[in-house]
Amino acid sequence: MTSTAATTEATARWSEELRTHGRRVTKQRLAVLTAVEHHPHAVVDDVAAAVRGDLPDISLQSVYVVLADLTETGLLRKIEPPHSPARYETRVDDNHHHAICTGCGRIEDVDCAVGHAPCLTPENTHGMTIQIADVLYRGLCADCADQAS
Ligand SMILES: [Zn+2]
Ligand SMILES: [Zn+2]
Ligand SMILES: [Zn+2]
Repeated sequence: MTSTAATTEATARWSEELRTHGRRVTKQRLAVLTAVEHHPHAVVDDVAAAVRGDLPDISLQSVYVVLADLTETGLLRKIEPPHSPARYETRVDDNHHHAICTGCGRIEDVDCAVGHAPCLTPENTHGMTIQIADVLYRGLCADCADQAS
């Protein structure tokens, strides 16, 4: 597949998703969705840099607004690791978790062993209906472990 065909395919797919979620198809939304799809777990600055390949004049503020809107509609998932800027991804349809390296901040997907949320059942819910258990694995990636030894 040529890259042009891949781009056309992605544009058609994301246009359909936007309509399904009751959102107008705009250049900005398509560019942000495509950028996040190609750079999973990207921070806002990385998304903006990628989007500017298509839309050189888009402001950082506009990228923030589009990201927030797409997160709200459920097309993007926002990950907020502690002490680290928010990241975005298009993999929204499963209950996967993340492993973050405390050395370099690299972040990887970890499939949920259970597959649905919440995947941990609390002993006592205090009367709350529990919807999700946020699981974040933290450790050292192989590169950082090598450097440390
Ligand atoms: Zn690392
Ligand atoms: Zn992920
Ligand atoms: Zn899980």
